[in-house]
Amino acid sequence: MIKNYIELAVEEMLDDVLESYAKKNPGTCICPRCRLDVMALALNALPTRYVVTDEGGIYTKVAMEQVGGRAQVIAAILNGLQIVKTNPRH
Ligand SMILES: [Zn+2]
Repeated sequence: MIKNYIELAVEEMLDDVLESYAKKNPGTCICPRCRLDVMALALNALPTRYVVTDEGGIYTKVAMEQVGGRAQVIAAILNGLQIVKTNPRH
């Protein structure tokens, strides 16, 4: 199976970042459509790193290193949030 492990890293952190952002910024929409838009924007801003794996257990730690650490993933998600907030498509 081929996986983009950057996607896995974003997926893992998305809800945490979304929740804490929404707490600090009332009115932030975290409906499924906005959530996916944020994820797509974040992924477009990050590099893509494919890995071949035959199990579900994925190497988030490795993915974080590839992408430059959690801070870069969080920054990409926050950037996506701001774009979606300004121009929601739900
Ligand atoms: Zn929404």
